Amino acid sequence: MDPELIDAVVVCIAKRLADLPPAAAALPGIPVGVSKRHVHLSANDAAVLFGAGRALTKVKDLKQTGEFAAAETVTLVGPRGVIPGVRVLGPLRRVSQVELSRTDSFLLGIVPPVRDSGQLAGSAGVALVGPAGTLTMKEGVIVAARHIHMSVEDAAAYGVADGDRVSLEVPGQRSVCFRNVLVRSGAGFRLEFHVDTDEANAAGLKNGDLVSLVGVGG
Ligand SMILES: [Zn+2]
Repeated sequence: MDPELIDAVVVCIAKRLADLPPAAAALPGIPVGVSKRHVHLSANDAAVLFGAGRALTKVKDLKQTGEFAAAETVTLVGPRGVIPGVRVLGPLRRVSQVELSRTDSFLLGIVPPVRDSGQLAGSAGVALVGPAGTLTMKEGVIVAARHIHMSVEDAAAYGVADGDRVSLEVPGQRSVCFRNVLVRSGAGFRLEFHVDTDEANAAGLKNGDLVSLVGVGG
């Protein structure tokens, strides 16, 4: 290739890069973590389902500090259908919470609201069946609202704070922009964008794919 032409192309590319906003050029992508349907249990509810005094059996650490997948599973029973083999995640919590995709909820025949974790007032109910007993939850079933976990340092680097809503762009054949993504920043959190299986499939996302933060404010 003509050296002058190469020089001209290099100058052109350098100028285009210089014109990009610094944040967009400097910030790394955010890795995706796809949340399959799962259950968090209180100590009392775990005792009902798996037997008194039994601790959860850790199978695998999750990316967020202290969180793990347990060996224990339950069967969910709704008015229209049943989903067996739903994974329990540890550690035990103060209040039990079931997180489903919208597709899961259609299968069970219940209508859980889209909520941030822990916002359970007026949410849907379901029955849980374990090896030692059955539990009817009057509420506690949600479709978890998509969110990003960030350390305090990551949040500062991205120019956001705990509780902010941001927009994320997904590249590729099923490219979409996820708006209204909650930022959850605090000690022990590691950078990860959590979506449920419906959202991941709609956008062609799998674990570890990278998305870009493109706006703050939902
Ligand atoms: Zn999460």
